[in-house]
Amino acid sequence: MNTAVNTISEETLRRLLAWYDTAHRDLPWRREPTPYHVWISEIMLQQTRVEAVKPYYARFLQALPGISDLAACPEEQLLKLWEGLGYYNRVRNLQKAAMVVCEQYGGELPDTYEELLKLPGIGAYTAGAISSISFGRPVPAVDGNVLRILSRLRADDRLISDEKVREAVRKELLEVMPKDRPGDLNQAMMELGATVCAPNGAPACGECPWREECLAHLSGMEAEYPKKEAKAGRKTEDLTVLVLQDADRIALHKRPGKGLLAGLYELPNISGHLSREEVRKYLDSQGLKVVRITPLPEAKHIFTHKEWHMIGYRIRVDELEQGPKGSDSNAWIYVEPAETQERYPIPSAFEAYAGAFGLRRGKET
Ligand code: SF4
Repeated sequence: MNTAVNTISEETLRRLLAWYDTAHRDLPWRREPTPYHVWISEIMLQQTRVEAVKPYYARFLQALPGISDLAACPEEQLLKLWEGLGYYNRVRNLQKAAMVVCEQYGGELPDTYEELLKLPGIGAYTAGAISSISFGRPVPAVDGNVLRILSRLRADDRLISDEKVREAVRKELLEVMPKDRPGDLNQAMMELGATVCAPNGAPACGECPWREECLAHLSGMEAEYPKKEAKAGRKTEDLTVLVLQDADRIALHKRPGKGLLAGLYELPNISGHLSREEVRKYLDSQGLKVVRITPLPEAKHIFTHKEWHMIGYRIRVDELEQGPKGSDSNAWIYVEPAETQERYPIPSAFEAYAGAFGLRRGKET
């Protein structure tokens, strides 16, 4: 667990820039990165892959080459141009922002991060991208990709879904980003996240400019980062269930009066998954003479906070009366199967085993 996170050094960022200079893709919006082009491409790229965006981007700019065209576009045509990209609010916000830009900024996108942030549909990431790439402002553009690569680089245990972490990373980058190439740095981080340190599957560390300093890579723990929010998971418990019979009867066990399935009768069971031999030894130690042990299929039962993963054995013994009895908590009782109909309903957690032997299942309370 890495609690003290390394700071991001300027040399690390320079290494990334040197890589970007040779490895970056030739993308249409990079050829002429005007504020309008960067804006449209960044909004289209939210939730859509680069390759899928390319034809939309070309068609959109052909139809609406400038901000005033976007502001004046009839809604029907606008939606048609966006058709297939989904998230139609994005294009509606684009138009709203274009109208504001025409009314309040003389048809040109404002050149500061703070002013861009005021426009509909422009958040911290898009404002950072436009102001750095098109206006050369030293402002970071931090999205999930950037958070992921930095999380791996530093084996950072913090949750990148946490807004406070995003803000902390943004502030940190603000301090160290090269003032001469802020737009390239933001694009380099995006590029590394898209093409090398990708989110799904194994990152291509062999091609990464950070491979000699990346803590996740050096420890072989790339897949461990970024950390994911622990789901309120259920605990799992392995059990070995024994369907113990002699010629007439079957063994049951009464559960403790408190806790899960309190006070109900269950099939005897042992914690863990035991082999046939282990079960035989256990029964020997309980004074039972085993005639035959037959494995039964595995079963699973899901409670609200717990899962039982069960294996089972059908076991024929010489005489059950020789087994554990008395009043202690391990005591078993020996009943005729028909008695489970009336007196000893068995929780449905044991359905897979009880049902197969005609034992009655009861409700769990
Ligand atoms: S070395 Fe591997 S894990 Fe680390 S940043 Fe590069 S691609 Fe990602």
